[in-house]
Amino acid sequence: MRIGKDGLAEGARFVSSPNRDERPAGSTVDLLVIHHISLPPGEFGGDGIVELFTNRLDPTAHPYYATIAGAKVSAHFLVRRDGELIQFVPCAKRAWHAGESIWKGRVRCNDFSIGVELEGTGEVPYTDAQYARLAALARALAARYPITDIAGHSDIAPGRKTDPGASFDWPRFRRLLDIRRRRPKKNSDRKRRNVKLPRRPARKKKKR
Ligand SMILES: [Zn+2]
Repeated sequence: MRIGKDGLAEGARFVSSPNRDERPAGSTVDLLVIHHISLPPGEFGGDGIVELFTNRLDPTAHPYYATIAGAKVSAHFLVRRDGELIQFVPCAKRAWHAGESIWKGRVRCNDFSIGVELEGTGEVPYTDAQYARLAALARALAARYPITDIAGHSDIAPGRKTDPGASFDWPRFRRLLDIRRRRPKKNSDRKRRNVKLPRRPARKKKKR
């Protein structure tokens, strides 16, 4: 997978979301934020997520929809259960996925992050196809942008958000990234891929 200069991922289905704007001038995109979503909650495969991110969700279609219809939100990407990749916002633009958030002392994480939604609940295991696609996407993003950190939404909005949840296997995800980084094809690839993708932050704060 490659991310083009226009910030669009090759091979992704692009569905344009209006829930975006410009990143602040001089922003460096260095954080990848992992989320989960399912609409209706706990159900997979429907059109609800795409409708929500494009402001077309029918509030009468499901009781839960009435509570979220009108929310102006979108992530850059959605990875469906079967591994399909949908992109809603070009990476150069600011997608509205993180809300009130802070990472390493920097607030408003939307300014400097790329948001990826996994179709899931945080309780049901994510699929093999999702891990494979997410890892490919993360590598492609790291080749295009100076990504230094990967965090869950729960890490940047603790107490407010729980996604991607207990069922997201961080060690497995990290292994998928590491394996590819150990097998660079060319020196130029090695240089590009030699990004530090740090471990997930510890749940409990240790003394600093
Ligand atoms: Zn989230």
